[in-house]
Amino acid sequence: MRKRQIPSAKPPQAFYARSIRSKRGLSQPRTRSASLRATTPRAIGCSRAWRQSGIASCKGSPTDWIGHHPEVGWHEFQAVDTLTTLLRSYGFQIDTVAGMPTAFVARWTSPGGANGPTLGLIAEYDALRGTQGDFHGDQHNAQSPVAFAAARALLEYMTQVRVPGRIIVYGTPAEEVDPPAKAILWKAGVFKGADILVRSHSSVETRRDRPGFGVCCLNIDAVKYTFTGRPAHQLTAWNGRNALEAAVQFYSAVDHLRSTWRPDHRVQGVIPEGGIAPNVVPDHTVVDYFIRFPDEVYLEHVARMMDDAAKGAAQMTETEVAITRYGEYRDGITVSALEELFFAYAKKFGAPGLQEEKGRPAGYEETGWVSRDIPGVGITTRSSSFANHTYGRRCGECMRRRSAQIQPYPRRAGRRFGSRTWSGLGSRPISSRKLEPPVSRPKRRSTRVSTSRSRARVMPT
Ligand SMILES: [Zn+2]
Repeated sequence: MRKRQIPSAKPPQAFYARSIRSKRGLSQPRTRSASLRATTPRAIGCSRAWRQSGIASCKGSPTDWIGHHPEVGWHEFQAVDTLTTLLRSYGFQIDTVAGMPTAFVARWTSPGGANGPTLGLIAEYDALRGTQGDFHGDQHNAQSPVAFAAARALLEYMTQVRVPGRIIVYGTPAEEVDPPAKAILWKAGVFKGADILVRSHSSVETRRDRPGFGVCCLNIDAVKYTFTGRPAHQLTAWNGRNALEAAVQFYSAVDHLRSTWRPDHRVQGVIPEGGIAPNVVPDHTVVDYFIRFPDEVYLEHVARMMDDAAKGAAQMTETEVAITRYGEYRDGITVSALEELFFAYAKKFGAPGLQEEKGRPAGYEETGWVSRDIPGVGITTRSSSFANHTYGRRCGECMRRRSAQIQPYPRRAGRRFGSRTWSGLGSRPISSRKLEPPVSRPKRRSTRVSTSRSRARVMPT
């Protein structure tokens, strides 16, 4: 049977992995027998629910397993294989997204008919990059199982009462790596047709937000400034044009500009490419910035001054600069009625860390684009006392149940793909299959850690 494919999401070229997923045999995981026996939402994620889903060899929960097998954004092949197999066992039909091999859309239509609301759930599963290896320091390993619990509960109710409607689970990769995947999916129309979207995220507290416009991590322009010079021997450096000098001048100029900007700007940059050898004049450097401001109009002003500074640095060093905007995050919308509804249930079920003080509006997902279009809510509850993006927060469930140190998953590609997935490919090591080489890894950027107590709840970007 031919799989339906959603129109191309057109991510930037660096993230085109084309159909690597299908070439690896990941697109057609082994079909498991559907099991729709009544299971409470609480049970989803526990071993029993896994066994019921037909995945007999599993031990522990999907949260644990994904926690122990962290994969960074755009490389979440094993997690996707595991999760889509589980969704198939519930009776969902899985569609892939062209150009985004670790995104998926899982659809289920009620036996009562499709002529009803379409309820959307957002699932995430990517890990953070860290100096100790990839790790689930933002507990994305738990996000999909939470979404699945909701999907399963809805599915059972709609089946029993024959409520017409559809459930869609959106598998959204790479929350922690730019370009923002949800923005790409939104631009491609992947979320079209959903009447409401629900997303969960771990936090240090359980809190709802005020209604209004906003985004969790400020409006952001993610911009790369690439300087191109001319190489030469450093002993005769005057024959070259030094791209590192240009980068350093630019980086320094940005610091001198800060006093001219309103104080609530946040502009942070790194130099991920600064040259290769000290005896060769660097002819290629890259400066990577996140330019943040609470208001998108003023953000444009800051970004323009940044661009001018880069052009000035290029001019003074006789190099050239190419400016690439590779990610945009903008204000989304927080809907008060949904926030209050979630909070009332959080209270009723005794969620820990309840905060009566409301947070500022932030939408329910970090790009802002999706929540402008479709009403929704982010279920944000306390799951750990460790701050987001820290080693202490990784795989909280495992940490509680076992004192054993969680080993970071090996970085080397051979080892990475030499492991077994939880589900579809579990019968033999993946390395025994004919594989394409792994797609190139996104360039490492400094790990972003939230230092804001007031916004410690979600700091994905
Ligand atoms: Zn996150």
